[in-house]
Amino acid sequence: MPSINSRVARATADLTELYRDLHAHPELSFAEHRTAAIVAQRAKSLGYEVTEGVGGTGVVARLANGPGPLVALRADMDALPVLEQTGLPYASLATDPDSGRPIMHACGHDMHVICLLGTLEALASARDQWSGTVLAVFQPGEEVGRGAQAMVDDGLFERFGTPEVVLAQHVLPIAVGTVATRPGAILSANDSLLITLHGRGGHSSRPEATVDPIVMAAATVMRLQTIVSREIATTDQAVITVGTLHAGTKENIIADEAQLGLSIRTYSPELRDKVLEAVRRIVRAEAEAAGADRAPTIETLTRLPVTVNDAAALDKTCVALRDALGVEQVLEMGAFPASEDVGILAEAAGAPLCFWFFGGADRAKVAAAQQQGTVDRDIPMNHSPYFAPLAEPTIDHGVTTFTAAALAWLGHQQNR
Ligand code: ZN
Ligand code: ZN
Repeated sequence: MPSINSRVARATADLTELYRDLHAHPELSFAEHRTAAIVAQRAKSLGYEVTEGVGGTGVVARLANGPGPLVALRADMDALPVLEQTGLPYASLATDPDSGRPIMHACGHDMHVICLLGTLEALASARDQWSGTVLAVFQPGEEVGRGAQAMVDDGLFERFGTPEVVLAQHVLPIAVGTVATRPGAILSANDSLLITLHGRGGHSSRPEATVDPIVMAAATVMRLQTIVSREIATTDQAVITVGTLHAGTKENIIADEAQLGLSIRTYSPELRDKVLEAVRRIVRAEAEAAGADRAPTIETLTRLPVTVNDAAALDKTCVALRDALGVEQVLEMGAFPASEDVGILAEAAGAPLCFWFFGGADRAKVAAAQQQGTVDRDIPMNHSPYFAPLAEPTIDHGVTTFTAAALAWLGHQQNR
């Protein structure tokens, strides 16, 4: 009987070409039409029962193979409005037809799609070695934090079954071949806020007749940065970034309002509430201090929960990962200040989540940068215009990892 590894090797043989194709044709959140069609076609050809249009552009591929657990495997499909500068021969030249913005797979979701497709192939060809049901969830709109919820709202689990576990992986520029994860909170909550400070506009020469929203905004930005430094215990972690600040049209006009875009990361519900309350308090108080006629408007753009790995489920998965990759390749990491919506799937299913990162960066480059202390400078992170996971052997490792994790949960026969 062919081993799982040889099945993986066969499954990944033509995936590099498809990876390059997906990379060259990225699509923004909820516009993953081409990607979804490719996924659907390929999953069907592997014998999966495929349903398209779940939660917008989401695709569900199901393979029932006798009695046993239902295991959900999730990959996100969307790209980002980034102008690619990797110089790769298959770099994206795509732009959004509506806005003209450049588009790039700068978070590696193309790699996630490819690795899940390879996993589906490996599992389909090894049907004699497991039993249960595979539920592959190709999710739209992760980068806007709404895709998982959209699929849940479209009846994902009612229509296709409630899984016993939700498994998901994300490529990161750590050494290829390694996997990094941790029990408990692995990714932060993300709250994105759009704050409008209402001033009173007028002539630049007569500030006494106005309430200047730019001064109000400047004071607010500086004060917001005291939340982490002055209100949070050293043992807690939080990040507050004011990522956008817009006001004014001309230097001799005092503007009517200023808008601030905030991104807030926290690692526990309690800290999240505390930080959000501090933000509201400071924003309101600075407006009052400036003599604003109206309280600021605070709008929530994104609300992503903390991503929490179930400790027992992760233990079980990691045994299989160590077995497949080697003990020293499975690393325990600290909590990571990025956010994901995959936790929404697990929560809606009432199932444990296992989420891990897998490496996509050249081992020698990572080692050299670590030695020189220049990782931040030399190794482009996700969302960077230079982010460029190696196609090979990342695909191989990604498929091996996902397949091993799935088999840990499916009724796996040990006679391979
Ligand atoms: Zn991302
Ligand atoms: Zn991502």
